[in-house]
Amino acid sequence: MSLEKYNSKRNFSDTPEPSGKKAIDKGKLTFVVQRHHASHLHYDFRLELGGALKSWAVPKGPSLNPKDKRLAMMVEDHPISYAGFEGDIPAGNYGAGHVDVWDHGTYEPIDEDGGVITAKQFSQHLHAGSIKFRMHGKHLKGDFALVNMKKDEKTWLLIKHHDKYATEEPYNSEDYAKKSSLAYTAGRNKDKVVKKK
Ligand code: MN
Repeated sequence: MSLEKYNSKRNFSDTPEPSGKKAIDKGKLTFVVQRHHASHLHYDFRLELGGALKSWAVPKGPSLNPKDKRLAMMVEDHPISYAGFEGDIPAGNYGAGHVDVWDHGTYEPIDEDGGVITAKQFSQHLHAGSIKFRMHGKHLKGDFALVNMKKDEKTWLLIKHHDKYATEEPYNSEDYAKKSSLAYTAGRNKDKVVKKK
């Protein structure tokens, strides 16, 4: 995995984002979901693997409803240090807009049967286009899958599995965004009251 693409897209003298350096995997694998209000609002879903964050842009955000198959476009790997990034990417820079952490925590790679597997096995599943993982976040809990759509290597679907954390109710990640994040969304959610869990 390489961070060359990440670095080449950014001018670090002009954006507060961290420059990309590979990190060493130590202990638990982490994940982060960042709400990114750029030219289009989307959620960036990132899983630590191989010293970087594998990343997908999810236009509608993640869902805890297994009926939702959320489009997830694979984007360039991001550095592990990006998981802590929140703030404004100045106009004229790649991804210009506002970034907030929506959820973060650890995850375990799992197989078809829900058994925990190694990061190496998980990498192989990733290359084969189908991964499953168990999330331990504030909003995202339980088992999920990311499945490549085969039409191209970038188009994936993010799907919640049926388990005790799944819901049958409509799920809108915007309902769980911080109030300060919603202030950056012109119009649509400006006056919306954020639900407390
Ligand atoms: Mn983004």
